[in-house]
Amino acid sequence: MMYPVGLVKGTYIICQNELGMYLIDQHAANERINYEYYYYALNNSDDEISMLIPINIELPTNEYLIVKENLDILRRMHFDIEEFGINSVIVKSHPVWLPKGNEDNSIKKVLELVIVKEKNFDLDKFNDNVAATMACKMSIKANTAITNEEMENLINDLRKCDNPFNCPHGRPTVIYYSKSDLEKLFKR
Ligand code: ZN
Ligand code: ZN
Repeated sequence: MMYPVGLVKGTYIICQNELGMYLIDQHAANERINYEYYYYALNNSDDEISMLIPINIELPTNEYLIVKENLDILRRMHFDIEEFGINSVIVKSHPVWLPKGNEDNSIKKVLELVIVKEKNFDLDKFNDNVAATMACKMSIKANTAITNEEMENLINDLRKCDNPFNCPHGRPTVIYYSKSDLEKLFKR
């Protein structure tokens, strides 16, 4: 069973098991865990949370026009969103997976992704992009000291991922040195 033995520069977790040593990038690993959570939720959850205070978002005209044309995408994602005055939209409820406590910024992030989406809209690619963006936002940053327990939880959650070896942007999450790799490096 792999377990953590330390943290380097608040960024890389050193782990070991009977096979050798592992370096885990804590941000990339957390991103992978969060990505799989958001990607699943985006595709499988149709629960909405209505907000006590609706969020009003004003946009530059060109962006507003794109959002207005694509309200159906946002509604399919379970945002209750409508036009609201000049160059503004109002959001009254949001999908249940949206990060709590940071709704404003998260909704703006999703709108940004709608605005930059390519002409040939592909829902799967779009969901992938939303999940990766949310995952990055919600993951532990580099240069953050985490406790041993947090390291253990991260490793356990990473183990449960469908694709634990890469972050959603394709960076590796884990670098492995076998016992014999280490022996070779030290010319034993
Ligand atoms: Zn990131
Ligand atoms: Zn990444």
